[in-house]
Amino acid sequence: MKKYLRIALEVLLVILLVASSTFAYMNFSGKKHLSQDMEEVSAELDETKDTLDKTKEQLEEAQKKSEELEETAKQFDVVKQAFANGVLLQDVEALYKAQKVLSAERLVGLGTVRQLSKGFEDPSAVEAFQKSLDIAELGARMQAVCAAQSALVSAGKKVKVLAECSGKLEKPDEHAKTAAHNVHWGYEGDNGPEHWGENFATCAAGKKQSPLNIVGPFEKSKEVVKADYKEGPMKIINNGHTIQVNIEPGTGSLTVNKEQYELLQFHFHRPSEEQIDGKNLAMTVHFVHKSKEGKLAVLGVLLNEGKENATIKSLWANLPPKEGEEYVPAKMIINPASLLPSDMSFFSYEGSLTTPPCTEGVSFFILKNNVDISKAQVAKFPFKLNARPVQALNERKIYAN
Ligand SMILES: [Zn+2]
Repeated sequence: MKKYLRIALEVLLVILLVASSTFAYMNFSGKKHLSQDMEEVSAELDETKDTLDKTKEQLEEAQKKSEELEETAKQFDVVKQAFANGVLLQDVEALYKAQKVLSAERLVGLGTVRQLSKGFEDPSAVEAFQKSLDIAELGARMQAVCAAQSALVSAGKKVKVLAECSGKLEKPDEHAKTAAHNVHWGYEGDNGPEHWGENFATCAAGKKQSPLNIVGPFEKSKEVVKADYKEGPMKIINNGHTIQVNIEPGTGSLTVNKEQYELLQFHFHRPSEEQIDGKNLAMTVHFVHKSKEGKLAVLGVLLNEGKENATIKSLWANLPPKEGEEYVPAKMIINPASLLPSDMSFFSYEGSLTTPPCTEGVSFFILKNNVDISKAQVAKFPFKLNARPVQALNERKIYAN
């Protein structure tokens, strides 16, 4: 997720500008002659401005266009979810608040996100949107119109870009990339977990954050959890924060009671993110699943320093040569089930993503039994430290079966 989620967000923002800037431009041009170009554009835009769902579809189209953004499509439900519960809005607001100078363009975008997140019925959201339009200079409004048009073009829409726009604006996808690139996060120093909240509000303000120190007393869990993973081709990526193995759709699922989650990917943390009775183990592997409704469930297995692990050996033999590219080793087949202990007893709790934007609403199942990994294998993992510290339990309960 990580930087891709941010890219998705930025692209989404630019596309959302379509709606806001149409309103803005129509207001302005109502006092002037409405050009033929603008009529065509607004006819096109009319389809998009009404519902957020439609806008999302366009983002999905845009994502398909760009190989770089393909990865985000998989994570897009997280963005959708974040929109639905307003968490993303908080993150955007915090991100923008952290910037010394907020461009009018972003202000309009933020107003749009506010409006779309909180709904047109909310008078304070509408007022905030109007205010953002008032503050934004006309020039910036034009820029927003240009950005919106370019975004539509890049999403494959037949839109005439206004003559005034030519040369004024960088391409929106490049804009998104640059902006996304500015938000660095990591595990140490100024980018470390204690600073994540400066750019991602939920990381600091959330009350249901992961990981946790798993310590009793436990509530009795009545949930029935079953992992069904099959073997498939391996796609392995170093995304700058971890080593992640992306799973072929349909090759793995997790069933929690009667609800089914599809396995998307698994990735590693060093040391283990979870603590058991206050102690970390050598590493964790997190299996990330998503339901049809977009709800996430993470199955965590702690890796104990001991015997060499054959599956890890295959994985580490195929570590991507460099960051950011998905690497598909020839004829390499892996079964994620080989990283599970035979006894699937678990602890469970409601938590969050353990990386920015720390979105909540993620169900965690941490297996009580560990799997071995050798000391040399731990040492070969390219990240010395990529584990978020344990978070406050707050009002939550931890369950055990
Ligand atoms: Zn993880």
